[in-house]
Amino acid sequence: MARYTGSKCKLCRREGEKLFLKGDRCVSPKCAFERRSYAPGMHGRRRSFRRKTSDYGVQLREKQKARRIYGVLERQFRRYYRNAVKQKGLTGVNLLQILESRLDNIVYRLGFASSRNQARQLVLHGHFEVNGTRAKSPSMLVKGNDVITVRERSRKLTYFQDLHKVLEHVTPPEWLSVDAASMQGRVQSLPSREQLDVPIKEQLIVEFYSR
Ligand code: SF4
Repeated sequence: MARYTGSKCKLCRREGEKLFLKGDRCVSPKCAFERRSYAPGMHGRRRSFRRKTSDYGVQLREKQKARRIYGVLERQFRRYYRNAVKQKGLTGVNLLQILESRLDNIVYRLGFASSRNQARQLVLHGHFEVNGTRAKSPSMLVKGNDVITVRERSRKLTYFQDLHKVLEHVTPPEWLSVDAASMQGRVQSLPSREQLDVPIKEQLIVEFYSR
């Protein structure tokens, strides 16, 4: 599956807020948004003083922001939206639940990686099992009660040996649980909207696709 390979920091600067795409660097003084909090490009600074954005522009930016936070390209994002429409309940919340249930997001939320990008890489390299079966697809959607485990042979790698100590201090969101000793995480249930701390106004995305 294709993915965006350009500068992550430019995405934050384009959206005008920190999207936390680079793990530890995002909370350090090296964060590009802290140093240059205007849009990238030749006219970036001028853009900040432009006239008011239209409703369409606001909806578009919200959709782009969500795509960038979860690292999903347009075609797949639209597919997720179509699936969210078919499900019962609020389409916007369904969409966020689908995005949250991606394996790379779960690996990140469990604390096995410091960013979704890193989680994606670790999944692609086959370091995880879902319910005892090796899973190499970052876009795999997990369900309630699924168990995500670091593979036995991967635990010997320096990265996972160091991570062991980090995990002991990680507090995952309430809809997930993690056992540092066995390097295992469990999805208790899919999150409700109140349990999600993402800075996304999902209603704007629904309005964007409903035009
Ligand atoms: Fe965004 Fe992180 Fe880059 Fe800062 S360091 S601009 S939060 S990706």
